[in-house]
Amino acid sequence: MNWVVSCTRCGSSSVYESGQGLPEMCPVCSEKGKKEVKKFLEKEQKRKEIISISTSEFANRKILKTLGIVSHEHVFGVGLVKELDLAKFNGGIALSWTEKVHIGRDLVIKSIEDEAIELGGNAVVGVNIICQVLGAHNDMVMLLIGARGTAVAVD
Ligand SMILES: [Zn+2]
Repeated sequence: MNWVVSCTRCGSSSVYESGQGLPEMCPVCSEKGKKEVKKFLEKEQKRKEIISISTSEFANRKILKTLGIVSHEHVFGVGLVKELDLAKFNGGIALSWTEKVHIGRDLVIKSIEDEAIELGGNAVVGVNIICQVLGAHNDMVMLLIGARGTAVAVD
């Protein structure tokens, strides 16, 4: 007896003999899916290995190739009244704001690292981070966090 299975991805039908484990996808899509998973895992590995430094050179690694400038800006608003959590005011530091800035900084660094990976790099050197108050709107303060650096390939 044969089973007709329609692919959950492209909808095309494939015929399988009974006794086989019935796949959810046609051979073409399942091959494609495997490749995508592999690509994704490779990218995740690259994300783990990439390093960003603020100096323009490594003390212990050699720059093999300079790939170009990478930059990213992140603009976000912080509520003046609502988000200035007084319980988190510690030694004069507004921790709730600090957290937001910290998250924004991680985000812009990740973004330039992703860009560097796209360029074929495995490091970003000369990273410069800026944080600016753009202005206030009602009780919201708009902040800009930006990161810029040079994507490189190092050994
Ligand atoms: Zn398919």
